[in-house]
Amino acid sequence: MHYFLGVLSRTGLMQWSLFECLFVMGKVTGFKEFDRKTEAYRPVDLRIKDYGEIFTTHHDVAHIQEQGARCMDCGVPFCQSENGCPVDNLIPEWNDLIYHNKWQEALIRLHKTNNFPEFTGRVCPAPCEGSCVLGMNNPAVTIKNIEQAIVDKGFKEGWIQPYQVKHRTGKKVAVIGSGPAGLAAADELNKCGHSVVVFERDDRIGGLLMYGIPNMKLDKDVVERRVNLLKSSGVEFITNVDVGKDLTTAQLQKDFNVLIFTTGATQARDLPVDNRDAHGIHLAMEYLTKNTKSLLDVGHADNSQLSAKGKDVIVIGGGDTGTDCIGTALRQGAKSIVNFELMGKPPVERAESNPWPLWPLIYRLDYGHSEAVEVFGQDPRQYHLMTKSFIKGADGKVVGLSTINVDFKEGQLIEIKGSEKTWDAQLILLSMGFVSPEHYLSNDANITLGERGNYQADYGKYATSQKGIFTAGDCRRGQSLVVWAINEGRGVADQVNRYLETFASL
Ligand SMILES: Cc1cc2nc3c(=O)[nH]c(=O)nc-3n(C[C@H](O)[C@H](O)[C@H](O)COP(=O)(O)OP(=O)(O)OC[C@H]3O[C@@H](n4cnc5c(N)ncnc54)[C@H](O)[C@@H]3O)c2cc1C
Ligand code: SF4
Repeated sequence: MHYFLGVLSRTGLMQWSLFECLFVMGKVTGFKEFDRKTEAYRPVDLRIKDYGEIFTTHHDVAHIQEQGARCMDCGVPFCQSENGCPVDNLIPEWNDLIYHNKWQEALIRLHKTNNFPEFTGRVCPAPCEGSCVLGMNNPAVTIKNIEQAIVDKGFKEGWIQPYQVKHRTGKKVAVIGSGPAGLAAADELNKCGHSVVVFERDDRIGGLLMYGIPNMKLDKDVVERRVNLLKSSGVEFITNVDVGKDLTTAQLQKDFNVLIFTTGATQARDLPVDNRDAHGIHLAMEYLTKNTKSLLDVGHADNSQLSAKGKDVIVIGGGDTGTDCIGTALRQGAKSIVNFELMGKPPVERAESNPWPLWPLIYRLDYGHSEAVEVFGQDPRQYHLMTKSFIKGADGKVVGLSTINVDFKEGQLIEIKGSEKTWDAQLILLSMGFVSPEHYLSNDANITLGERGNYQADYGKYATSQKGIFTAGDCRRGQSLVVWAINEGRGVADQVNRYLETFASL
């Protein structure tokens, strides 16, 4: 019987997961017996004194197994479907495996769909949990926490080793940009036997994983550990080369069969109101990058970071970037922190228009917000606020800004008269998202742009308007998430591999 089902599985007539769920099932009543409980972050009063990760890596195995046992192994696991995990992680399978104490098998399953679970296990907002079937009438399974525990254990036990490429095809691929999309593409193509070189304009590899997402959310040793694994597996990395400036695409095309642009959406949205030129107003990315670079280079000994110490800080714009600015400003010793949001405060529970299994648009306290609550006694977010102008002192430094309250009626933004207010601030951080990739590389390569200024290529195809140039990640889809960058990196690798097998010759 097992043999028969195995044959069905291999011939694709039956999914492996279905095969397994017929024979293996975690604790049938687990979801009734155990409450959802994620592992606690490090205590706020300790963690804001350093840039160490907020997460624990000392996982309580019994606890994680109990949480895995809450998975119902439901017939249609929405957690790994369209609204759930973008890399289609085989979530019920690894939940079941860890429940049965089969951690190494769980790790193998996890790596089948996700090149870098140690990144997503830390920074992913976990859309999987928003669509977990248990979440219909109970708190969802702690999927993200379990993912992190599996991969952390994998590294601890030495189960994650460089990939040994058995055969080289002689085909060469240049990946431009070393964020998660570029790294995933490089990993996959290297495993196919192609020779991959990743070009990065920064001095360190990782894209926003390195300079963007701060240390406390993703320790840079975690990024470098994976980059070293890729190096040992045969991927070559070249830093401090800005393609389109230091090196043209035409030059690269002489040496490589295919180019893949994974340059991210690095063109930040600005706020061109009065006195924007005042000193002390910075784009969030400049602020976060300088802080991380100085931390990694010399432990902040050179004071080259933009410091919030003793200052009233205003962060304009929310999202992950806004939260990271709050967390960083707190660690630098800000006097006060306020975070402006244009939109209103989200509801505590899902609205009727936002049912399961959609991503829940609800009020959340992210790590930076909880830290601010503990230090200043309140959530730093202020809603329905629009900045009208910055206020500049005689010495050219910013001293504050003025705002007006706004509302939205039928999609139109309305200013509420009489609600004008001024705020003190000596450091203002602009965190209003990203518009598109920068365009010097696309100009140099003469590739077509989409309406929003992203490199144009269809999802699933990833081919630009120029033969032999592919693209993936934020520069193609717009500002997104690490897990989507990994999805696109894997997807572009698949397309490039097909292209190389069919067309390319040097
Ligand atoms: C502050 C911040 C916090 C975030 N937090 C989260 C989070 O918690 N969870 C989450 O899922 N997502 C988060 N994101 C989003 C996530 O980081 C991105 O969606 C993801 O990194 C995109 O990956 P990518 O590979 O497409 O591009 P990127 O990570 O942007 O990498 C692009 C790389 O290309 C390089 N490059 C660009 N042009 C060139 C060139 N011409 N030559 C050579 N190199 C070039 C850049 O220097 C960069 O290193 C955050 C983003 C920011 C800004
Ligand atoms: S990558 Fe994100 S969505 Fe996928 S299982 Fe992990 S936490 Fe969930």
